[in-house]
Amino acid sequence: VTVRKEKTNVAHTRSCNQQSIPERLKNLKRSMTRTQCPFCRQYITTDVTTKAGSAAYIVCLISILFCCIAGCCVIPFCMDRCKDVVHKCPKCRSHIKTCKKL
Ligand SMILES: [Zn+2]
Repeated sequence: VTVRKEKTNVAHTRSCNQQSIPERLKNLKRSMTRTQCPFCRQYITTDVTTKAGSAAYIVCLISILFCCIAGCCVIPFCMDRCKDVVHKCPKCRSHIKTCKKL
């Protein structure tokens, strides 16, 4: 009976560990994050790049419409904040996650 219990515990721990990886990836911030790569299983600091997502284009359009009112100095700040953040693994170059602004 004792042996069976131990086996169940090991299996339970393993399934918890597997589930914790996507859970951790959900919490990736918009900056470089230390995590485990789900593809090569190595502990890495994600490579972060920004790319203009749909939010950036909308802000761009709004900025053009209202540039006389808001002033052009506001645009670069808004553009950077509205860009999508792409997390990549520096070891295997796999795409881990994209944090979309919309
Ligand atoms: Zn990797």
